[in-house]
This record gives sequence, structure tokens and C-alpha cells, in this order.
Amino acid sequence: MIPPIASKFVAGETPAEALGHAQKMNDDSVAVILNLLGEHYHERGPADEDADAYVQLAEDIANSDLDACVSIKPSQIGLDISDEVFAENYRRIAESAGDHDVFLWCDMEDHETTDATLDSFEELAREFEGGMGLCVQANLKRTPDDLERLADVPGKIRLVKGAYDEPADIAHKKKEKVDEVYKELLAYLFREYTGSIAVGSHDPEMISYARELGEEFETDYEIQMLMGVREDAQRKLASEGVEVWQYAPYGDKWFQYFYRRVRERKENALFAIRAVLGI
Ligand code: FAD
Repeated sequence: MIPPIASKFVAGETPAEALGHAQKMNDDSVAVILNLLGEHYHERGPADEDADAYVQLAEDIANSDLDACVSIKPSQIGLDISDEVFAENYRRIAESAGDHDVFLWCDMEDHETTDATLDSFEELAREFEGGMGLCVQANLKRTPDDLERLADVPGKIRLVKGAYDEPADIAHKKKEKVDEVYKELLAYLFREYTGSIAVGSHDPEMISYARELGEEFETDYEIQMLMGVREDAQRKLASEGVEVWQYAPYGDKWFQYFYRRVRERKENALFAIRAVLGI
């Protein structure tokens, strides 16, 4: 069982618990993106198992009456084994999501995975028109070119700042620069992109800017934030009529994810200490 201290960030160990969490968020008009925790598998067994779990999850979501979708990680379904294993599992999940009319997101991992992820996404997004989304990272210097490539690909783009510590020759390293580029890319998406836009950020400045752009271009967009992060803001935005999706991870590999959330921010560490001490 997940201790209460971690359940702020993780939606349970089982799909049933994750769906229960989605129901609670839906009650507050927040939709949910479910992600089974797991990454960097070097053997086919666990990669196929997690792909099977996503195939089933799409069916479970379809059988529920929930406003929920799925997000996968490339290295979770085989990209560290080979491009082919990844592409095969990605297709299997896309077919199940397509059959059940469940939207399928793909996270973006470190820069060594970008080409293979883009290639598979583009192929599947053109085939499963409108049912697929991809995350792109503002900190990577290649991203403006990638967005140009994706401009007429159907589906959604989730723009994030980028979570991986990338080398300086291929990535912007200073926070101010990443923020500046994030805004430029957001404006580019609102101007040029034919699909829908997801703002994957907790940053009030980026969210306000997206709202301005949404009004200016009369374009659909959604705000995406992580479970356990600025949940009051998630509910408030939703109550104001903004489309909000919460990214909620679940599964038995919760410890590493929880530890990452605690380490990345002083407030999260304080929350963990207070929970342990019961104060
Ligand atoms: P930051 O630049 O970290 O912070 C800016 C401001 O936002 C802060 O000053 C504060 O006001 C507010 N804020 C930020 N965090 C908190 C917090 N914990 N509590 C309170 N206020 C806060 N990265 C990838 O590389 N690949 C992915 O596939 C990916 N998917 C993601 C999906 C979603 C839905 C989200 C939200 C993020 C994802 N990320 C992904 C992570 C992303 O790249 C950033 O590392 C992460 O979101 C931090 O950047 P930020 O824009 O939220 O805000």
C-alpha cells in the first residue's frame, strides 16, 4: 500500500485505485491523464507487460464513464531495447486506445530518444487521426524545427520546459532562457499549429500567457499539471471554464517518482517531513 505521504503525488498502486482518483478529480471538473509508473526497461518482458497494462487501461477507461486518458513513456515500452520493440508496443497501445476512443499521450524523455519518439508518433498520429498527443521540450534547441515538422500532424502537442539535464550544446540551460523560449514556442503553436495545444506547466506566468493567446487566437488549449502540484490552482482554473488535465501516475513503482517530487522542491520536502512527524 502507498503510504499517505506519497499518495499526494501518486494515484494508487492499481488501475482501480487510479480510476477512483480520476473520478474524484472529474467531480471537480478536472480531467485525468493516467500514467503507469515504469521506465528504462532493458528486457522485453517488462516492456511488453506494461504495454499490455496500457492496452487494458484503455479498455477500462472506456468502460468507465470517466474523463480520462493515458500517457506512456517510450523507455517503458521498449525504446531502450530497440526502436522496433518501442514502435511495436506503441502501435499496440494506439490500436487499443483507438478502438476504445481513449486519447493517447506520449511523454518525451532525454534527447537520445527524441528522433525515434517523433518518428513513431508522427506515423501513428497520421493514422489514428486526432487521437494522439506528444510532449515536446522547450529547453531543447531542436524543438522549433520539430514543431515545424509537426505543424500539420493531427493531434495534440504538450509543451513543457523539459525535465532532463541535457548537454549545453543542444539545450538551453538557464531558467530565464527556457522561460523565454517556452513563451515563443507557445505563441508559435497558437499561430501555426493545426491541432490542439496543451500547456504542461505549473508556472502562473506561462498559464496567464496561454490564456491571453487563447483569447487572441480563439484556439482550443488545455492546461496540464501534475497530481499533487498546485491542485488548488487546477480546481480554480477548471471552475473558471479552462480545460484542465491532471497527470496522475500510479503503480507499484511509486517510490522513485515520489522521491523525485520531494527532491525537486523545498515545499515538497517540507510536506514530506511534516507528514512523517505528524505536524
Ligand atoms: P518551473 O519552471 O519549475 O516553476 C515555475 C513556477 O511554477 C514556480 O516559480 C512556481 O510559481 C510554479 N511551480 C512550479 N512547480 C511548483 C510546485 N511544485 N508547487 C508550487 N508551485 C510550483 N518533462 C519532460 O521532459 N517530458 C515530459 O514528458 C513531461 N511531461 C510533463 C507532463 C505534465 C502534465 C507536466 C506538468 C510536466 C511534465 N514535464 C515533462 C515536466 C516539465 O518539463 C518541467 O520539468 C516541470 O513541469 C517544471 O516546470 P514548470 O513549467 O512546471 O515550472
